[in-house]
Amino acid sequence: MPSFIGAIDNGTTSSRFLIFDEKGELVIGHQLEYRQIFPHPGWVEQDPMDILGSVVTCINGALRKFELQGNDLRSLKGIGITNQRETTVVWDKHSGRPLHNAIVWSDTRTKDIVHQFSESSEKGADAVKDICGLPITTYFSAVKLRWLLENSQEVKEAHDNGTMMFGTVDSWLIYNLTGGKEGGVHVTDVTNASRTMLMDIKTLKWSDRCLKFFGINADILPEIKPSSTMFGEINFEELSQLKGVPIAGCLGDQHAALVGQHCFQVGEAKNTYGTGCFMVFNTGTQIIPSNMGLLTTVGYQFEGEPAAYALEGSIAVAGSAIKWLRDNMGIIKSTEEVNDLAAAAEDNGGVVFVTAFSGLFAPYWRPDVRGSISGISQHTTKHHLARATLEATCFQTRAILDAMNAESGHPLKTLRVDGGLSNSDICMQLQADILGIEVSRPQMRESTALGAATAAAIHLGIGIWKGGFKAFTERERGSKDILQTFTPTTTAKGKACFK
Ligand code: ADP
Repeated sequence: MPSFIGAIDNGTTSSRFLIFDEKGELVIGHQLEYRQIFPHPGWVEQDPMDILGSVVTCINGALRKFELQGNDLRSLKGIGITNQRETTVVWDKHSGRPLHNAIVWSDTRTKDIVHQFSESSEKGADAVKDICGLPITTYFSAVKLRWLLENSQEVKEAHDNGTMMFGTVDSWLIYNLTGGKEGGVHVTDVTNASRTMLMDIKTLKWSDRCLKFFGINADILPEIKPSSTMFGEINFEELSQLKGVPIAGCLGDQHAALVGQHCFQVGEAKNTYGTGCFMVFNTGTQIIPSNMGLLTTVGYQFEGEPAAYALEGSIAVAGSAIKWLRDNMGIIKSTEEVNDLAAAAEDNGGVVFVTAFSGLFAPYWRPDVRGSISGISQHTTKHHLARATLEATCFQTRAILDAMNAESGHPLKTLRVDGGLSNSDICMQLQADILGIEVSRPQMRESTALGAATAAAIHLGIGIWKGGFKAFTERERGSKDILQTFTPTTTAKGKACFK
């Protein structure tokens, strides 16, 4: 009987469950958007039960299709998990119920807390950067957790009484899928932990100094594990058909895409264009501190191997700007329509869109700025605006790549891309023009899910992943991905976007 491997992919706006065969080919999947809650400007929440519910619906939906294809559920040998990072969940140890809505990574309610903590140290926003690799900003979990402690009596009491569990979305999902209050495991992996501001990226353990700095008790934290190891077995009533199936891989979404795009060599990088956009650059076993607004983070860790580190440039708004054109402006009816609209304009007509809806992330880190559209004239049409929206992500990517090239000492020759917005040919061509290097897009763009499946399959020794991480990467080096390459053009169109 052939073997298959599943990947749970909880993105910021939708969940997916995808099934891959022994060769890493995508067999089937199911996807579902779930509810976003915007209580105030700059606040973004999700109900942890919605997240869990969407994942379970996707698993059941995909399994039904898988069986209809004539497959036996027993051939699904394991599951990997990948998830939106930093999003902060707190729940009660005894009831297993959430104590508050999840605070999502893009939420900026913690501006004042960030200011207070930065003011409290001589090093300002870099107070704990030497430990966790990150500046203090609204983005990371520790400040979101601080906000919950200061604004919810229930959360504070549970924290102080030792009855609270904290986790990023991976921990929340694994806890529930392995039994919840009836013995679910409380774990996370090094990549997710590296986004909390609470882990020492050298020792890969929770840092007492960071915990003390943020006033957080250690007993609420999950156990940190490598990205590819045994996390637990499925034990969830609505997934009884999968009882006992191992969860053997777990990575934050951007780290999973690094693995899924096979960026295993120092100097290889990928850029994922989803709700936000995230460039991750493999620096191998070297931890490179950044002075140019990049983040130092754990790339991945396979069991028995040292961790691979990475430099990251994060852009808060990418695909979500296109959704804004659709939902708030009504200029397009579907997100894909942005491409036809943009293609109908020769250039941006002088329009520049800075999509700083929730401040600017790397390399600027300015939570205080807001979006702007400038250069509007009588001549401006919706076509120019559509083009400027696509260019907004491309220009921010350029700022990040410039910093990465300067800091890593390995100027990038080719950028590997994936994520929803990378489906846009015009956006990828604009990106190549704006960067002046090749942009390379795989045929199968579910790199994030493939990365999670890869982590699980390597641990379980399935199909092309047999023999462990080293053997796989050696073999993989000889193989050829099917790629589509966008080369920089020097045509009027290419040049025009620099105007
Ligand atoms: P996430 O994992 O962050 O939820 P996805 O990788 O699913 O995000 O990407 C979703 C985003 O990609 C949406 O915001 C949407 O605007 C954009 N998108 C998807 N397909 C296209 C397309 N063909 N053209 C332009 N944008 C697209």
